[in-house]
Order: sequence, then C-alpha cells, then structure tokens
Amino acid sequence: MTTAPHRKLEKSNTHFKKALTKLPLGVASTFRYWGDERTIYVHHGKGGRTWDIDGNNYVDYRLGYGPAILGYADDRVDAAARRGMEVGGVFALSTERELAVAERISKMVPAAELVRFSNSGTEAVMSALRLARAYTGRESYLLVEGGYHGLFDAAMWMANMDEWDAKSNSDPEVVPYGQGIPNTVKQLAHLVPMNDMQRLEDTFRRHGDDMAAMLIEPIQGNCCGISARKDYVQLARRLCDQYGVLLIIDEVKTGFRVGKGGIQGILGVKPDITTFAKAVGNGYPISLVAGREDIMRTFRYGGASHGGTYTAHSVSLAAAEETLRILDETPALETLATYGSRLKDGISEILSARDITHSFSGHPSMFGIFFAPEPPDNYRAWKTSDYSFYDRMAWYLHDLNIIVEPDSREPWFMCEAHGLDESCYTDTLRAVETAVDLTLRDQAEGKLDAAE
Ligand code: PMP
Repeated sequence: MTTAPHRKLEKSNTHFKKALTKLPLGVASTFRYWGDERTIYVHHGKGGRTWDIDGNNYVDYRLGYGPAILGYADDRVDAAARRGMEVGGVFALSTERELAVAERISKMVPAAELVRFSNSGTEAVMSALRLARAYTGRESYLLVEGGYHGLFDAAMWMANMDEWDAKSNSDPEVVPYGQGIPNTVKQLAHLVPMNDMQRLEDTFRRHGDDMAAMLIEPIQGNCCGISARKDYVQLARRLCDQYGVLLIIDEVKTGFRVGKGGIQGILGVKPDITTFAKAVGNGYPISLVAGREDIMRTFRYGGASHGGTYTAHSVSLAAAEETLRILDETPALETLATYGSRLKDGISEILSARDITHSFSGHPSMFGIFFAPEPPDNYRAWKTSDYSFYDRMAWYLHDLNIIVEPDSREPWFMCEAHGLDESCYTDTLRAVETAVDLTLRDQAEGKLDAAE
C-alpha cells in the first residue's frame, strides 16, 4: 500500500516562526503562505526546479505564477541582466535599448504598434485602463468573471462564487477581493460570465455607450485556464467597435508564452491595447502596455499620465531584450509546449488507468486539470465541478517534491528548462501516480473534504 510521503521541513518551520515576528503571515505575499507547517522558504531555483532551505528539490510548475518562461536563473538572460547592471539602473531619462526592445515586441505582436514599459502586471493594466479612459472620455468598464488583472481597486471586483447557489437563476454577487476597496468604485465595474454571447450583447446594449474598455484574459490564468471561445472574443471585438469601447486583452500570463504572438495571435483578434508582464523578462520585473498608435499617443503631457521611477530599469530591460530574442529566434516556446503536451498525456494515462474521468483546459504551456469529462467554460461552471480531489492531490504533490498551486484555479506552468531535462518529466509522473493513489485512498475513506 502507498504510504503518505514525509518531507523534512524543519528549517522552513523554524524560519516561519521567526519570520512571523516581522512579516505578516511570515511571507511577502499572502499567496506564499501555505499553512504554519507547510510554508516553505526558497534557497534558490535553477531551470525548472526550486530548492528549499531544507534541501528539498522540487520540479516547479508554479514558476512564480509564470514568469520563468525559460527557467530559473537562465544563464543567457542573467548574463544580459549583468550587462544591464553596468548601465547604471534608472536615470529619469531614456536609453537606446528601449527602442530595440519595442521593435522586437511590435515584430512579435503586430497589435503592439507602440510600447510603454512598467514594472508589474498590475501597473501595466492600471495604465491600460487609464489610457482607455483618457482616450474615450468614459469611466466604466467591463470585466469577465474569473478574470484577474492585478491588485488595484478598479480590478478587484469579482463574482462571489463561494456564496453563489448554482441552482438559482440569479447572478453571483459582485464583491471586492478583500477589505480596503472603496465601495464607490464598484459602480464603474460591470461583470459578465465568459463565453455567454447573449449576456455580452445585453451588457453592451445597456452600458456600451458609457464604457471605456472591456478587459479580457482569453485564457484565464488565475481561473483554471478557462478559455474563451474564438467566436466569443470575436463578438467582443465587434461590440467594442460598435460602441466605441476599447478592447484590452490582458496577456500578462499568456503573452510570450502560448505563442510568439500571444493568445491574440492564436485567436486572430486584434485588441486596441494589450498588457504583458511575466514572461517578458524571464522573471526580472518588467511589464508592457502596448497598442494602437493613435491610442498610445494619448500618453503625453496633458493626456494620460504614465511613468514611474523604476520604469525601463536597465537590468530588467536588458533581461527583456535577451528573453524576447530567445523566444523569437529559438524554438524555446515549442520546446515547452511539447513538454506540456507530453506531461498531459502522461498524467492522462495515469488517471485513465484508474478510471478517473478528467480533462484539461488552457494551453499546453499553461494548463488546468479537471476531474470532469469537459473543462468548465466559465467560472460559474467551475463552481459545479468537484475540485476536492485536485486540492488534496496538490498537497501530496508538494510532499512528493512537485510544486503546483494548491488552489485548483491556478494552472500548471511549463518552462523551456522542463523540456530540456528529462528527469523533470519522469520525477513528475512518478509523483503524480503516487499522489493520485493516496488521494484515491483518502476518497475511499471519506477524507477528501476533511481539513489538513
Ligand atoms: N493580469 C493577469 C492576467 C495576471 O495573471 C496578473 C498576475 N497574476 C496580473 C495582471 C497582475 O500582475 P502582477 O502580479 O505582476 O502585478
């Protein structure tokens, strides 16, 4: 019989107690807290693997939520970053490299006619929304349920699935992500369920003339990789044109990951504005707001404000130049997508051998796993899927040295280094097989809903 794995976490546990004295929850971001006994501290990462301070070595599919597109501490990108360091940081002036990077981006993503740099996904989306408001002179905007666009007040409104009764005919309540978000902001945000064409048309009919933008993540990188159908995004494009609303495609996770031209390239839909972050600099903090020339030129004195002390920092910019060169000129993206496809096949084989119904969502480079014949096509459908099996399996995977997000809403991310290191594949499948068997055992004993 499979025994529950034991992982040594003494050093992380001891450090956690010390960290609590100075850091809320002992961490720098709430999502890094995995419980008093299970929060780990990283020693370092290399390629597709992360080592914790107890010496545990994990194959990492969380990958910092996606930035390490090539892998951690990539020698090529780090060498470029060192060259960027020699430039001197930030000057409140521009460097020539900004143009070179912008030219590469426009070549890879034709809708990115002009480019501005920021530091994080949040900053980029915040700027994109401000730009849309400045350009249209309107204030309200449309979000898709299950989408995530960062931690700024306007984007922090969501459908309350925890409290929603799937059998009712009513919409889920729109609630803030947490405390501290002014309720007055709520009146500007409209929400629609993904892939519901009728609701989209109705919403535009009622509010289209007042909306500055529609924000959409066509693969919901924070909601199981739930994917927009092509005809849904095409309809969004048409309605935006009809009502003078700007279409913002948030490619913070999908950009330079699902393909050189992002998800917009795959869907064949041209947004007015795109936001990128994550993969742009292989983990160095840099993000982009990019789009149609006439809109982007609203960034000017007297127009929409954009800037920031650390914008286009020489280290991040040099890292981005090299990362984008590699993604554009080498088969890195094919390598990691092929790895993702093989991994899905391997996982499928393990699950099918045990008669476990399952499906995958998203793209091979960032996929979600579901224990249902079809993946949900919107956040409301996710609510009715059984994610208790996944949640338990994810904890076992941690114990078996595989890092995935413990919340089933976060997809698994692939990097080039996974595809170049066969041990990542074999270690993962061995662990998945054990984790599935342990979860089946817990299920048979009626323990799946029990707290850890
Ligand atoms: N948009 C999307 C689609 C994201 O996935 C994220 C981060 N997960 C953000 C925006 C915010 O990015 P950041 O965490 O860099 O602020």
